[in-house]
Amino acid sequence: MPGGVSSPVRAFKSVGGQPIVFDRVKGPYAWDVDGNRFIDYVGSWGPAICGHSHPDVTAALQEALEKGTSFGAPCELENRLASMVIDAVPSVEMVRFVNSGTEACMAVLRLMRAFTGRDKVIKFEGCYHGHADMFLVKAGSGVATLGLPDSPGVPRSTTANTLTAPYNDLEAVKELFAENPDAISGVILEPVVGNAGFITPEPGFLEGLRELTKENGALLVFDEVMTGFRISYGGAQERFGVTPDLTTMGKVIGGGLPVGAYGGKAEIMSMVAPAGPMYQAGTLSGNPLAMTAGIKTLELLSQEGTYDRLELLTNRLIEGIVDCAKSAGFEITGSSISAMFGFYLCQGPVRNFEEAKASDTERFGKLHREMLNRGVYLAPSAFEAGFTSLAHSDDDIDATIQAFRDSFEAIK
Ligand SMILES: *Cc1c(COP(=O)(O)O)cnc(C)c1O
Repeated sequence: MPGGVSSPVRAFKSVGGQPIVFDRVKGPYAWDVDGNRFIDYVGSWGPAICGHSHPDVTAALQEALEKGTSFGAPCELENRLASMVIDAVPSVEMVRFVNSGTEACMAVLRLMRAFTGRDKVIKFEGCYHGHADMFLVKAGSGVATLGLPDSPGVPRSTTANTLTAPYNDLEAVKELFAENPDAISGVILEPVVGNAGFITPEPGFLEGLRELTKENGALLVFDEVMTGFRISYGGAQERFGVTPDLTTMGKVIGGGLPVGAYGGKAEIMSMVAPAGPMYQAGTLSGNPLAMTAGIKTLELLSQEGTYDRLELLTNRLIEGIVDCAKSAGFEITGSSISAMFGFYLCQGPVRNFEEAKASDTERFGKLHREMLNRGVYLAPSAFEAGFTSLAHSDDDIDATIQAFRDSFEAIK
């Protein structure tokens, strides 16, 4: 396997050492093949918001398994999950299930172009929207972690239609619209960035994009593959009160199985085949196992108090991390919203990817190694958000903060 991994973000190239091979996961913990236990803040990169292998999800999966793994025909379960997503996410009136976040973003891009009859798209530096050709321009996640230039194999004619702007910079977006009249199909972004570390939208940024796209006859698309059902039950769009035209989802809605989705206004989604002419299909899309894990996970999340608990827990964690770093004499800036957090080893504020790059990545590598030695698994990158779950207890958070205290002292 190239680099020994099935996805580059799992490699330890940027932090040093070899990736840890896991044997099993449960609740907030992961065990490696040597039997070492880690408190896990990667959560399978987002899906494990109820904790790994939650007993309710596992039981529902076992039951579903008896009825077959894939029908290749409509099933009741996909209708149930669709209803739940439509009820929860403000922009979604109609939804199509796919098998990954990448697939959802690829399809939404085609839909943006089909609906507007325009070819160009605006994305932001450091945002990641999967690995489709048109999005591999100044991309976040593994591309940012490994410091890769834009990927070979992507035709220049394709990326010529991808325009980029710095995150939180409305003026830059305004200029792109002025320079490309009637050519831009829409703006796609992570409403809260989790693939360049953790960057939150400044007040007025999302609202400004909503207005600018409307004025220019373009679509606003929130890529909520990471933030959907994590920033709040209705995603970042519910939390910030800004409703996009289209939304992509993944990670949490699959409850640990491969699921992606895109949805939005019925008027736009009606363009998708077979309701309309825009083609997109999938052999395993909406399969009963994936739908079951999604339904159970959303049921657990929809219970009263879920997001208040996640917010408090995560706040306490990030405050503890920042405090430990400062006590040891390090520059740090950190923040959290709901069950997502991140910190940079530099002086803040960090409002875009350029500012994020000031983070001391070499020191982060050392910190990462010290944390592993103390039984805490952080994403092996200075440019990925951290994830908490309902399974993380107050004791887990206390133990993690203590590990940070000792680790920061160790790398002084
Ligand atoms: C993870 C992610 C994707 C890609 O999803 P995959 O399931 O890994 O293909 C797209 N957009 C965002 C914001 C993501 O965090």
